[in-house]
Amino acid sequence: MSILHILEKSEFTKSDIVQLLSLNDENVKILFKTAAKIKQDNIGNVVFLRGLIELSNICHKDCLYCGIRKSNALIHRYTLDESEVLSAIKFAYENKYGSVVIQSGEIANSGFISKIDRILKLAKEITNGEIGITLSCGEQSADTYQHWFESGAHRYLLRIESATEELYYKIHPHNQLHSWHERINALNNLKKIGYQVGTGVMVGLPFQNIEHLATDLLFMKEMNIDMCGMGPYIEHKDTPLYQYKNSILPLNERLFLSLKMIAILRIMMPEINIAATTALQAIDKIGREKAIQIGANILMPNITPGKYRNNYALYENKPCTDENAEDCKSCIDTRVHLIKHTIGYNAWGDSKHFLHKDKL
Ligand code: SAM
Ligand code: SF4
Repeated sequence: MSILHILEKSEFTKSDIVQLLSLNDENVKILFKTAAKIKQDNIGNVVFLRGLIELSNICHKDCLYCGIRKSNALIHRYTLDESEVLSAIKFAYENKYGSVVIQSGEIANSGFISKIDRILKLAKEITNGEIGITLSCGEQSADTYQHWFESGAHRYLLRIESATEELYYKIHPHNQLHSWHERINALNNLKKIGYQVGTGVMVGLPFQNIEHLATDLLFMKEMNIDMCGMGPYIEHKDTPLYQYKNSILPLNERLFLSLKMIAILRIMMPEINIAATTALQAIDKIGREKAIQIGANILMPNITPGKYRNNYALYENKPCTDENAEDCKSCIDTRVHLIKHTIGYNAWGDSKHFLHKDKL
């Protein structure tokens, strides 16, 4: 089937998506142009910000791709104290970011759970209830999610990492702590509670093929997600998956494939929020801008205190680790304007898809 034929359809099949993901340099332009137009028609050219706070690199999990996995003894572990988190939130608020994302290694003890709870309440207090808060703190019990929701979090990011169970267990240990079914369960719990729910995958993993990626996009559609964060997998030398580094796609092809994933998802789900992730920028200095031009609408400038950033090393060459929040702010503004977009300051920038769900 021709690309134009596929792009006219209201629903894509798996084989349509595989065909779109296989497009080469020349004819991919039609895909990117279509996605850009759908974005413009549905959500316009506004980019919303979420100041990213990397709360802790302590994690009880051992995902085989991640540099801060429990078994990596070579990194220095840290946790921001409450006052450091609150001053980062204050920075975001005073600089009109509108929202923050609090991200962390997965910790499920009661101390961590109540620390997040206190931070949420204080964050609302010091910003007159105005700061929007997304959490990305891994799998927690339904009770914990409920608690955090009541304390002020209203969006949650939990990547499925792969919608194919078999592939999931090739990139995670296969045990109780790393359960594909539990991950899906957690996503369903978040939805039931009322969060705007985001998920996503890494692109270009060892053992991953284009069919897996097509399955991932169909999973997102079927889960009726509100937000997505996906980007290239980037190897880290102190992780088990590093041994496959010579069998995976080169970095530039992982970037290209990630951009195609974003464009196709924008066409499939015109009103969701899609993040232009940091990993895109790790491969190409203007990777995030490229993503915005073909479908993404969210940027997450890092506002973690500079001295901790080197330790939140999920993968190699993570950008902006030598900067502070103030540097990120001026840099982001210039970058967004250069691609003829504007920043939605002082706004939560909620997922339109979520806001329109009730009316369907
Ligand atoms: N611990 C929480 C979790 O896993 O949901 C949140 C923090 S975790 C560091 C956030 C995301 O980083 C993961 O969902 C994963 O997709 C991504 N990530 C980890 N290692 C990566 C790598 N080597 N390359 C690209 N992304 C990676
Ligand atoms: Fe922990 Fe998240 Fe990294 Fe997995 S991806 S090891 S849960 S921080």
